[in-house]
Amino acid sequence: MSDAHRGLPLTSSRIEKIFPKLTSTQIDRIAAHGCTRSVQPAEVLIEQGDTSVPFFVVITGEVEILRPLGTRETLVTVHGPNEFTGEVNMLSGRRSLVRARVTKPGKVIELDHQQMLGLVQTDAELSGILMRAFILRRVELIAAGVGDIVLVGSVHSAGTLRIREFLMRNGHPYSYIDLEHDPDVQNLLDSFQISTSEIPVLICRGQIVLRNPANQQIADCLGFNESIDQTQVRDLVVIGAGPSGLAAAVYGASEGLDVLVLETGSPGGQAGSSSRIENYLGFPTGISGQDLAARAYVQAQKFGAHMLTAKATRLICDNKPYIIELENGARISTRSIVIATGAQYRKLPLENLSKFEGAGIYHGATFMEAQLCGGEEVIVVGGGNSAGQAAVFLAQTAKHVHMLIRSSGLAATMSRYLIRRIENSPTITLRPQTEIVAVEGEGNHLDSVYWRNSQTGQTEKHQISHVFVMTGADPNIRWLDGCIALDSKGFIKTGPDLMPDNLSAAGWLLTRQPYLLETSLPGVFAVGDVRGGSIKRVASAVGEGSAAISFVHKVLQE
Ligand SMILES: Cc1cc2nc3c(=O)[nH]c(=O)nc-3n(C[C@H](O)[C@H](O)[C@H](O)COP(=O)(O)OP(=O)(O)OC[C@H]3O[C@@H](n4cnc5c(N)ncnc54)[C@H](O)[C@@H]3O)c2cc1C
Repeated sequence: MSDAHRGLPLTSSRIEKIFPKLTSTQIDRIAAHGCTRSVQPAEVLIEQGDTSVPFFVVITGEVEILRPLGTRETLVTVHGPNEFTGEVNMLSGRRSLVRARVTKPGKVIELDHQQMLGLVQTDAELSGILMRAFILRRVELIAAGVGDIVLVGSVHSAGTLRIREFLMRNGHPYSYIDLEHDPDVQNLLDSFQISTSEIPVLICRGQIVLRNPANQQIADCLGFNESIDQTQVRDLVVIGAGPSGLAAAVYGASEGLDVLVLETGSPGGQAGSSSRIENYLGFPTGISGQDLAARAYVQAQKFGAHMLTAKATRLICDNKPYIIELENGARISTRSIVIATGAQYRKLPLENLSKFEGAGIYHGATFMEAQLCGGEEVIVVGGGNSAGQAAVFLAQTAKHVHMLIRSSGLAATMSRYLIRRIENSPTITLRPQTEIVAVEGEGNHLDSVYWRNSQTGQTEKHQISHVFVMTGADPNIRWLDGCIALDSKGFIKTGPDLMPDNLSAAGWLLTRQPYLLETSLPGVFAVGDVRGGSIKRVASAVGEGSAAISFVHKVLQE
């Protein structure tokens, strides 16, 4: 059932949660945080594009929420007495996607951005009601494509996929026009003098036309970073907003630290690309990585953490406070740092690989993946211990495991006990000097694999739908520029793993030893997949990110 007062087509079950009516007691509590004032018809309370928008509760009268597009306005919703304005940008301070205009005279309570944060941080009941409404409203805006940008792209373009992913994982609504499916699109392109070779094109706030823009350009255009003061010295800068970085942000901000998070792409990191995480505590039916990240992202903002879409390109470690240089040349000063930049799984150099990632191509072989391919033939790529373990594990349930390695044998790269198990397993075939050269499938479902033997030069096609790529992961540490001690695989050494020579090389002058998770630089911590010896899992990343904060407090008191 749709509500006649609403602009968006909503289901009745959600209306009460998206547009809840506050009780008089709740309204009194909100009023204590802000001011009450009269409003008149046609008065614009919020303009599209405004940053740090205020929050309004309607006491009497009516306020309409509109999406302006050129000279046209589309009604999104109408707020009557006991209802309130706002969605997630209320917490982030990002630009408003909509216009709020008074239609009937009355009274409103107004809270500015800081007062609003004060309210949600101190009133648990109202925090629950407001947060849920804000998140659900954003979900509705995304579903209805009510944003301030239009993306013109093609299903066959990697740039389009990247931008759609960036917008989706940043929870930013947009309208999408696909060149392949919309015949009228050429007129639109002509009106902006865009040739088809410049696709994808992003039309930002109806004004700026960006041709295949980088993520940072999109973030700048949408004002993601505008409300953030980049000049102040922070208590803590967290680099990376994967599970470990988001956990550090939530714990740091909720415990009163002034936290800035830098993320080059989208919140969620690797976990954000997982369609269903089944082994994270508290979610018995699983949760998509994106949902988990979106919740953590809003949670961090609720506690006052600031999120900057930016890439850290250098750590200036001989300076106190530390300085982090960003890709655009800006510099951020901070008293402590949590490095949570994760790792990037090495990928096979195949053109259409990303299409099948998570849908036939996997980077982990757990019980869950084993279930997906039980009774079927599978391929494991790699000759290291992780590949060996995966092959032995999968051989218990798969029909057959083909183990593809580039070298002529396993002896140099794998533990002897694993080699013996592989040799003794009738369901594992080792295929030396063999590489995957192509993969194929319908839609995004993998159904065949071509592999080539480099000695014979022969290429074979096999109808196999599951490939486990276990060729290792590279930590995202290049930007550290030699400042911090690394292990032999390039992951960051922390706590007890740091040897005296690591500390003297880094100029460690303190009488104490590094805390758990602390690197060879005092006050700089590493958590999650980027850390040497870490367990590459969401739960352990979250645990480390949270635990690091207790040591950050100690360092800040030193
Ligand atoms: C497809 C897939 C499925 C998975 N499924 C599961 C699962 O079901 N269960 C499970 O427990 N684990 C799973 N994992 C593993 C899990 O996702 C990782 O262990 C976890 O995400 C690690 O978290 P992290 O925060 O340490 O790093 P990441 O998730 O890698 O996040 C690092 C973040 O840092 C950002 N970053 C990197 N460099 C910079 C820079 N210079 N400046 C700014 N930002 C930067 C990146 O963009 C990224 O967002 C999966 C991994 C993948 C790839």
